[in-house]
Amino acid sequence: MKILSDFHSHTDYADGKNTPEEMVLSAIELGISEYGISEHVYMPNPPAEEYLGMDESKFEKYVLELTELKEKYRGKIELHIGTEVDGMGKKLRAEYVIGSTHVLEKDGETITVDDSEETLKYACERLFSGDWYKLCEAYYEQEAKIAKLTDCDIIGHFDLITKFNQDGRLFDESCDAYLEPAISAMKELLYAGVPFEINTGAISRGYRKEPYPSRRLLKELKSRGGMIMINSDSHSKDTLLYKFDMARRLALECGFEYALIPDCKGGYKRTEL
Ligand SMILES: [Zn+2]
Ligand SMILES: [Zn+2]
Repeated sequence: MKILSDFHSHTDYADGKNTPEEMVLSAIELGISEYGISEHVYMPNPPAEEYLGMDESKFEKYVLELTELKEKYRGKIELHIGTEVDGMGKKLRAEYVIGSTHVLEKDGETITVDDSEETLKYACERLFSGDWYKLCEAYYEQEAKIAKLTDCDIIGHFDLITKFNQDGRLFDESCDAYLEPAISAMKELLYAGVPFEINTGAISRGYRKEPYPSRRLLKELKSRGGMIMINSDSHSKDTLLYKFDMARRLALECGFEYALIPDCKGGYKRTEL
């Protein structure tokens, strides 16, 4: 079945290109029935001592504006008010939370894993003596805690550390040195009982050819009884539902039969794939 929900998207309240209303109108045009905006809140932004995303006062404005949009378009679309919270940021919650690891700490320094390939290579050289598997291990140690740190309803882009690793050009995603810490983080997160998103955001932005998480990790997730949902992580109104057919096929090939969406009352609804 065609998936007509998308719960991971950004606006000009942080690093997205469009206003919330432009995003909502685009979602309506695409026939989306349940739509969630999940703006970043308080994400450390090294090397500066500042944060990316909304602070408390911007968050208050955001909730107010989205609540108005929810009313304005009621009957046309069900709008949900979310936040994407980093494990090292502050937890600001509206109706649902996506928990994501974008930054981690090593020797008192903060590293952003999805900023640019250059930044990540430089951090790997300097802080991990060029050992990518040590860097991946540190990433998954932080990721393993994401549900506890953010109290999230959705695990965001579980293997974001692979953003610049298309075709294994930085490290080998099939070897034990990579997979062991990844699977041990997955095992820890399964206790939270929340879905892992299949996220197509790095495809629409030209970094990857397949969604997060990798096929190997999705199969692992399925074999351990994990659950999924499908999200675009859109930073522009043109990429909602981006490559959802591909994500759906991938999920089916990995053995999943349905995806979840939060009902924003503490539970989930199922959509057949
Ligand atoms: Zn993210
Ligand atoms: Zn995002």
